[in-house]
Amino acid sequence: MKNIIIVGAGFFGAVIAERIANDLNLPVTIIDKRKHIGGNSWSETDSETGIEIHKYGSHIFHTSNEDVWKYICRFAAWNEYRHKVLTTCNGEVYTMPVNLGTINQYYHRAMAPETAKNFILAEIRKENITDPQNLEEKAVSMLGRPLYQAFFHGYTKKQWEKDPKELSPEIITRLPVRFNYNYRYFSDKYEGIPLNGYETVFRKMLCHKNIDLKLNTDFKEYKKCLESESLIIYTGAIDEYFNYRLGRLEWRTLDFKLEKHPYHDIQGTAVMNYADEEIPFTRIHEFKHYHPERKDKLKETIIFKEYSRFASIGDDPYYPVLTLNNVLLLKAYQQLASGKKNIIFGGRLGSYKYLDMDDTIAEALSCYKKRICPLVNP
Ligand SMILES: Cc1cc2nc3c(=O)[nH]c(=O)nc-3n(C[C@H](O)[C@H](O)[C@H](O)COP(=O)(O)OP(=O)(O)OC[C@H]3O[C@@H](n4cnc5c(N)ncnc54)[C@H](O)[C@@H]3O)c2cc1C
Repeated sequence: MKNIIIVGAGFFGAVIAERIANDLNLPVTIIDKRKHIGGNSWSETDSETGIEIHKYGSHIFHTSNEDVWKYICRFAAWNEYRHKVLTTCNGEVYTMPVNLGTINQYYHRAMAPETAKNFILAEIRKENITDPQNLEEKAVSMLGRPLYQAFFHGYTKKQWEKDPKELSPEIITRLPVRFNYNYRYFSDKYEGIPLNGYETVFRKMLCHKNIDLKLNTDFKEYKKCLESESLIIYTGAIDEYFNYRLGRLEWRTLDFKLEKHPYHDIQGTAVMNYADEEIPFTRIHEFKHYHPERKDKLKETIIFKEYSRFASIGDDPYYPVLTLNNVLLLKAYQQLASGKKNIIFGGRLGSYKYLDMDDTIAEALSCYKKRICPLVNP
């Protein structure tokens, strides 16, 4: 039997560790270089105020995948939170994603759905874009130029530090345009925040006699004492694993500026975007709104102002930068990885892919079934 080592205790690593421990009843070691489990989905409670903070930015669980939902409900009970996002633009507050309310407010009109649809179609036709080649063209071909300019141009420049004309059109396909007053951000069947925080979810997943958890442990050091026959599931960055030998994949990172305020409520919602280019942060998170069932008991509030920039070595990688160069470099690293028979790369860092938590869990469950089980139990 091979030793099984999982690098990274985020959702990808935690799901696989839990499956090996519970389903296969085999020992497994999971390491993380951070001092906590949970990866970027980690939340913790501020001891002064009792407010639960999402340490790496707001994390709302949402899915329509029945298998994922059934799986994760074994470790969490959920509250009734439903995500809404607002955006401040030129001194006014609008709802996001763009819906009939956003359109009517922006154009100072009271259009019905069909009228608004035709109005926006006319805006789109003015631009004559048939085959969008970049983010700007894609957004303009979905919304028309005025709405793009107001809500996406400055925000995208702040978020990516690149002209939207240089970015892939794929980035914007995630944003729906609605011709009704549906204010919900997500349209999945299931949505919520764990009642007892993500902290409890991860503890329940990883607390098992078969799981040996080692925090503050970087794979760079740990690998020196590994047996050569160990099976490694690696959820760290793929280029870092290969010591950047072909070059560095670009990532965006985020800096969060924490502020505590002696007020009950400072912005009235969990996330407020700031669309104007002149405002240096992209959004403000006010965490207590994620727990409507607790928030009246908490007198103060905590906010994070979010600033986006390119990641250097040592920074936390957040969003992959999908340029052609990075995609080609990723392919080259994947080619190197395919020659390693005892190592499986996965998760958002190992696959250089933005993955929501439910996608990460789905990929981990599939990796466990299709790749790990046949290797461990041939
Ligand atoms: C700003 C932001 C907001 C998000 N909001 C949402 C949301 O609202 N809803 C949603 O569904 N998803 C959201 N996501 C996505 C979510 O964060 C990911 O789905 C999830 O983190 C993926 O889990 P993972 O295990 O692949 O990676 P991670 O959670 O990043 O875990 C990887 C772990 O590997 C460890 N590691 C890396 N290298 C090494 C090494 N060399 N040695 C030891 N350990 C190592 C890291 O420390 C880390 O703990 C958001 C992402 C971002 C960036």
